[in-house]
Parts: sequence; structure tokens; C-alpha cells
Amino acid sequence: MFDSIVIGAGIAGAVTARQLAERGSQKVLVLEKRNHVGGNCYDEKDAFGVLVHAYGPHIFHTGLEHVRSYLSRFTDWYDFGHEVVANVYGKLIPVPFNLNTLYEVYDEETAARLEKLLKNAFGEGSRVPILKLRQHEEEEIRKIADYVYENIFLHYTMKQWGQTPEEIDPEVTGRVPVVISRDNRYFQDKYQGVPKDGFTPMFQRMLDHEGISLMLNTDAGEVLKLHDGKVFFDGEEFRGNVIYTGPLDELFDCCYGRLPYRSLDFVFEHYDCRDFQGHGVVNYTVSEDYTRITEFKHLTGQRCEGTTIVREYPVAYTGKKGQIPYYAIMNEENRSLYDRYRDLLKGMDHFYLLGRLAEYRYYNIDAMTDRALKLAEHILAED
Ligand code: FAD
Ligand code: UDP
Repeated sequence: MFDSIVIGAGIAGAVTARQLAERGSQKVLVLEKRNHVGGNCYDEKDAFGVLVHAYGPHIFHTGLEHVRSYLSRFTDWYDFGHEVVANVYGKLIPVPFNLNTLYEVYDEETAARLEKLLKNAFGEGSRVPILKLRQHEEEEIRKIADYVYENIFLHYTMKQWGQTPEEIDPEVTGRVPVVISRDNRYFQDKYQGVPKDGFTPMFQRMLDHEGISLMLNTDAGEVLKLHDGKVFFDGEEFRGNVIYTGPLDELFDCCYGRLPYRSLDFVFEHYDCRDFQGHGVVNYTVSEDYTRITEFKHLTGQRCEGTTIVREYPVAYTGKKGQIPYYAIMNEENRSLYDRYRDLLKGMDHFYLLGRLAEYRYYNIDAMTDRALKLAEHILAED
């Protein structure tokens, strides 16, 4: 009855389903275990009428023209250059650390000298990972690096990952480099913002297609089984495509042990004031148990009397009911465990793994959209 089954209605699943249905005229079944679409991008109005991102702040940012124009079919945008500040012992300074931050933390004369030094060493506009900066041959540059390391990276990373910046994959801290410019924006991409009326309506429009059937509150594990290299759906062999965007270990009942993830506890609070912190996101880089506070109205542009914030408390993922695996912990050991699971799918040519969970790696929304578009093309070319 269906040509393809897509598991998960996050950005990976939603884009793939839409493409298979629209470009391939396929009948596509989307199974989603949560009671809503959008995966971690899901947003909704809270009890006070404030639009909040239920799984932490999401800002769409991209330099990929085709991704921006593809998603623009399903939404208009509220564009803004996203800025983040760090709270360092009560003082708010721009993150990523850049030349403006330099002048905030050093006196004018010292900052001017260090600015020259950094520009000579790396060139104006360059983006230098903190771990690289710490290894620089010039002592004065290493001193700046030590300041940034201690005040921006060390404690935040310990909270977020339970590990030091050296212990985690360098790609992760490399996402927030030291920037040799006056640009305070968190991302450098040409397009930045959020869907004008929210992420959720964008997903709803994407999945609203005659070829797509959506089943919410349905864990694929209940209806889809794997035996001897075959897929069974509702007890019958299914020979179509399966696009799986959930955690790979759960597909096999974690038979080799759980793939490690970091999770987050989100604690929301509403205040009867117009403005709580004056910024969309404040990172707590030297104090507190939470990593950051997001005040949603600054991200969504919503005008309302009160304001809602969320604090993020990182925790180890244990797999207990209701807990969500957010961040794959990328290292060699975990990657080889992942590979063992992936080997269990050998020979199942129509079973595809896609997304942050199924591929066990970090993707932004734009990269995920790009991969989903490419996977759909690949599947349609194979069929
Ligand atoms: P998900 O969004 O996790 O979707 C997977 C879906 O599959 C979920 O809905 C899940 O319920 C469902 N599922 C899993 N297993 C099953 C099953 N067995 N049966 C049925 N359904 C199942 N990216 C950005 O570009 N900008 C940001 O600002 C940004 N901020 C982020 C902040 C946080 C706190 C986090 C955690 C991520 C952030 N991201 C951001 C990344 C963004 O969330 C991901 O790129 C995106 O969600 C990946 O989409 P996905 O479809 O792979 O995964
Ligand atoms: N990071 C940090 N301090 C900051 C911001 C980021 O130490 O103020 C580190 C931290 O290890 C984090 C990584 O850089 O996990 C990547 O940050 P990013 O904001 O990209 O993470 P996200 O929350 O988007 O996953």
C-alpha cells in the first residue's frame, strides 16, 4: 500500500517524505512517536500565549541558497542576525569571542595592541578554533587564548558534555571559534532567522500532501520489525523504502549496549514583565548549573506583555522514559559501536539511515535539509 515508510517527522523525515510524495508521486507513511511534528524544531504557544521552542532555541541559518529557497516554499521568514552574550561574573560580553569582546575585557591600549597581534597572526576576518589558538607560538596570543578558554569554554563545556574541551571532538568547540572581526553575530551565514509564524506550521505545510499519511503517537518499534534482513510492517513483509531517523541502537533493542548521548532538562518560567534579560540567549560560561537562558520573544519577534524563558540543564542520557537523546557524543569508541549497529543493516539496500540520531552526528537544520533532499533524489533514481 505504501511505497516508502519514513520514521520520524523532524526535518530529516519531513523533507524526505515531501520529496518522495511530490517528486516521485509515492505513497508515503510517516510514523512519529511524539504527539506532534517538527522533531526538536517544534514550537508552540505556552499557557501565557508566548511562542516557545519546546526543545531549546532553534535559529535557522544557512548559506545554502537551494535550502533556503526550498524551505521558503513552506514559510515566510522573520530574519535577524542572531547574537549571543556570555555572562562572565555578571558582565555580559559577546560570544563568539571577537574584537569587540577583546575591547570589553582588556583596557583600550592593551586591546589595541592585541588586536594588531591577532590580525597579523591570522588575518582580518579569520575564525580560529580555541584549541588551535591555545597552541600558538606567540606567548601573548596564548594568553588571550587562556582567557577565552577559562572564561568561555572550560566550564560551559564541562556542564554541557561532562568533559573538558580537549576530551570532546574538536569539531564541537570549533563551531564557536574566536573571530578576528567586529561581527557580534553567533553565525556567519547569509540567511538567519525563524519561520515567521513558527517552525511547526512550516512542518505542517510540508507534510500536507495527498501522498503523505501521518501517524502521530506511533513508535515504529511497535509496528515495524526487522528479521533476517527483511522488514515487516504490521506483521507483513514490506519491500518498499524505509527511511529511519531515530536512534540506531533502539532499532536493535540496544543489543550491543546503548549509544551514549547527552540530554537536556528544559526548565521554563514565565515572568510578568516585558523583558527578562534583554537578549535572546545568554550563555552562563563560568557559573550556574545551567548552560544558558533563552528568552523567546527576542528570537521570535513576538510582541506580548509577559515573557517566557528556558534554562538548559545538561544531563547524561540514560534511556529512561520521556528522556530525549539530543547530542551524540562523538569519539572513536562510540563511532565503532555505531558501526557495529550499522553493520546489522548490511544487505538491506532499501533501508536508509538519515538524521542526527540515525547517523549519530551533529547536523544543523540546513545541513539536514540538504541531506534529506539529496537522499530523496537518490531513492527516486534507484526506484
Ligand atoms: P529530530 O528533530 O530529533 O527528529 C527525529 C524525530 O524522529 C523525532 O520527532 C522523534 O520523536 C522521531 N522518532 C525517533 N525514534 C522514533 C521511533 N522509533 N518511532 C517514531 N518516531 C521516532 N539546528 C540549527 O540549525 N539551529 C539551531 O539553532 C539549533 N539549535 C538546537 C538546539 C538544541 C537544544 C538542539 C538539541 C538541537 C539544535 N539544532 C539546531 C539542531 C536541530 O535540532 C537538528 O538539526 C534537527 O532537529 C535534526 O533533525 P532530525 O530530523 O535529524 O532529528
Ligand atoms: N561552547 C562553550 N561556550 C559557549 C558556547 C559554546 O564552551 O559560550 C562550546 C561547548 O562545548 C558547546 C560547543 O562550543 O557544546 C558548540 O556550541 P554550540 O552553540 O554550537 O552548541 P549547540 O548548543 O548549538 O549544540
